[in-house]
Amino acid sequence: MKKRVVLALGGNAILQPGQAGTYENQKANIETSADSISKIIKAGHELVIVHGNGPQVGQILRQNELAKEEVPVQPLPICSSESQGFIGYMLQESLKNRLPEKNVATVLTMTEVDLKDEAFNHPTKPIGSFYTEEESQKLAEEKGWVMGEDAGRGYRRLVASPEPKQIVEVDVIKTMLENEIVVVSTGGGGIPVAKNAEGKLEGVAAVIDKDSSALRLSKDVASDVLMILTDVPNVYINYGQENQEKLESISIEKAEQYYNEGHFSDGSMGPKMAACIEFAKLGKTAIICALSDAVEALEGTAGTRIVG
Ligand code: ADP
Ligand code: MG
Repeated sequence: MKKRVVLALGGNAILQPGQAGTYENQKANIETSADSISKIIKAGHELVIVHGNGPQVGQILRQNELAKEEVPVQPLPICSSESQGFIGYMLQESLKNRLPEKNVATVLTMTEVDLKDEAFNHPTKPIGSFYTEEESQKLAEEKGWVMGEDAGRGYRRLVASPEPKQIVEVDVIKTMLENEIVVVSTGGGGIPVAKNAEGKLEGVAAVIDKDSSALRLSKDVASDVLMILTDVPNVYINYGQENQEKLESISIEKAEQYYNEGHFSDGSMGPKMAACIEFAKLGKTAIICALSDAVEALEGTAGTRIVG
């Protein structure tokens, strides 16, 4: 049966830990990802692909930093849209080569956030270059950046990670899905924009969690399935310990209990489980699995599934 699926690709779908981030690295990973993704499309499902962009936007920020004497520095929303553009291109090329009869297109996507979101009061997400303490104080004074120490490696700019309120291009995405177009959208959680004092949309320096944005998008396009593809085959309780236990099909109540007990780390599995629990509460299917198990997980024979 044909399903509408929102698929969130983890960072490893584009860049593996330890890789430098060359074009060749990224293309090779995307080719592997496209093998899994094209199987879902061939099975006849409607598909929106959301992807991460952390390392890619990091590289663009670094390029800006290094070239600032010669080329004007661009703000974070511009860097974010650049990363959506090139990742979208690579996915389009790899998918089109596998499915010449299908239309595949990327929508540069803005995600609206609220400037009153309390996340803006205490930015937590480190982005861009590392600085010394002295440089970091200067940047805080000159640019008003909030700076923070990052795991003993130096100082970095911190930006807010607000909740996604709305996917601005949602109607475009729905129209494309109705016309059987495979859509790449909301990359990196979307380009963060907010209504300014005049009520006009304007880019803001923020990073939106891609799993939260994938949930927002799943709700807004009324998808049947939210599928989060990452680098582990399942979600576990007591993860990384001797008594770790694989979760296959679990109830919303159990998932909430484990969540509250702290089994899912804040910056990684936490937001994925939070998104899946909320989606499952709508009576829909929420799955977390490895990229390579996507088709099996959709059929219910792999991955972790939260059932309502
Ligand atoms: P992505 O780029 O796919 O968003 P993340 O690194 O953010 O990837 O999240 C996936 C990681 O979450 C896994 O590699 C794993 O190390 C970590 N993780 C934390 N808690 C758990 C858990 N309970 N079960 C499985 N993985 C977990
Ligand atoms: Mg992540």
